Amino acid sequence: MEYIPVIGLEVHVQSKTETKMFCACSTRFGEKPNNNVCPICLGMPGMLPVINKKGVELAIKTSLAINCKIEPLNQFARKNYFYPDLPKGYQISQYDLPIATGGYIDIGLEGAKKRIGITRLHMEEDAGKLIHGDGGDQNSYVDLNRAGVPLMEIVSEPDMRSSEEAKEYMTRLKEILEYIEVSDCNMEEGSLRCDANVSVMPVGSNTFGTRAEIKNLNSFRFMQKAIEYEIERQIEILEDGGRIIQETRLFDSAKGITISMRSKEEAHDYRYFPEPDLQPIVVKNSWVEEIRKELPELPEAKRQRFISEYSLSEYDVGVLSSSIALGDYFEKTVSKYNNPKASSNWIMGEVLRLLKDGNINVADFNVTPERLSELLVMIEEGKISGKMGKAILEDMAKENKTAQEIVEEKGLAQISGKDDIAKIIDEVIASHPQEAEDYRGGKDRLFGFFVGQVLKASKGKANPQTVNELLKEKL
Ligand code: ADP
Ligand code: MG
Ligand code: ZN
Repeated sequence: MEYIPVIGLEVHVQSKTETKMFCACSTRFGEKPNNNVCPICLGMPGMLPVINKKGVELAIKTSLAINCKIEPLNQFARKNYFYPDLPKGYQISQYDLPIATGGYIDIGLEGAKKRIGITRLHMEEDAGKLIHGDGGDQNSYVDLNRAGVPLMEIVSEPDMRSSEEAKEYMTRLKEILEYIEVSDCNMEEGSLRCDANVSVMPVGSNTFGTRAEIKNLNSFRFMQKAIEYEIERQIEILEDGGRIIQETRLFDSAKGITISMRSKEEAHDYRYFPEPDLQPIVVKNSWVEEIRKELPELPEAKRQRFISEYSLSEYDVGVLSSSIALGDYFEKTVSKYNNPKASSNWIMGEVLRLLKDGNINVADFNVTPERLSELLVMIEEGKISGKMGKAILEDMAKENKTAQEIVEEKGLAQISGKDDIAKIIDEVIASHPQEAEDYRGGKDRLFGFFVGQVLKASKGKANPQTVNELLKEKL
């Protein structure tokens, strides 16, 4: 039988606040263990949490960017469970009254657009971290620096049908989060992680199968691999006449397999109830509108605009819109050198390569868009060849200089003056009389030989087009 996968993602995003969600402790990553703690995030009896307004603001900003409706009344709830990294014995989360509901993100694979629904976005606090001793060390340790750090959980509808779609959704979501600067989205540091819910159903069916939830996937590659493995695993069970049980699984990245962790808990297992220490949050419309005004042009809108304004391909636009900084770099280049396609080619090829090789942010790149456009104008005017341009660009990046400075220092300007080239051609022909005679006698392929000789004699500085034209005349 043929099966079709059904995938829904729960994404946890760490909000970029200075302080934790319910106390004034710092959220800084990489501090000494248990440095950023206080009675509130340590869960001492009698402590009283206070809501971090910035955390709520970032949740609203994110909700707007993913087309959600902001709930004017929302509320924190206690989610009760025991875990050594959760000293209170409950996590402050949101349950039946989340801050936002009913949004979507558009993804587009191979030009085909698809809308992935978003069920809700809710706020919650992170737990601490357990560190298990290795080698001879039999102890386990708990670091509560992360306890109480604000998180947003973004829950999608089960709208994805392949691991590629899941990856595309995550890519788009991460891009939006980076555009609106609500999170570092650093997957290695855990500020963006996802749980993947996966089920399969026979093609043609419209009843979803039983899902398994794979927890804590912290890279795109692992997420894709885990989903693919899980799809295969479930199909195999069904083909053998078995049944899928609803459970929580873990991805073993070394082995590339998912393993059962626990049978799936139900909401009632957590004994959710409204957090008695915190008032419900009333979100005024005027506040929402203020936050909406702060939103930058979002990636999807930018892509549409780049396509219509610069007539670039979807592929080019996809790369150039991958960050606000890169999009700005492109637009500033084009404003000084009005050739979007050539600018895009240079940026997507040479510039991105130099940034990647040097591990540099586009904002810190020595070759500013103004400098790049100067270089591209020089190439267009024939002062230097495209090939020389690439070498000059590398020097510009390395030495923090303009194209003009490099060209002058190294005497690189291309010889495009006809008289200079004509002189070189005369010399070359004079020193190869036999070849010249053979060429005139019909040996056409010797033309290439002469072009090569002239370029060599000019040390690569002669404009090849001019060389071709003049050689034809002179031979
Ligand atoms: P829970 O807390 O039990 O994980 P949530 O509502 O937080 O429940 O998340 C459920 C997630 O599972 C959503 O992303 C939803 O799209 C997805 N989902 C629900 N049913 C299925 C299914 N049959 N197959 C795959 N994913 C599913
Ligand atoms: Mg879940
Ligand atoms: Zn604290």
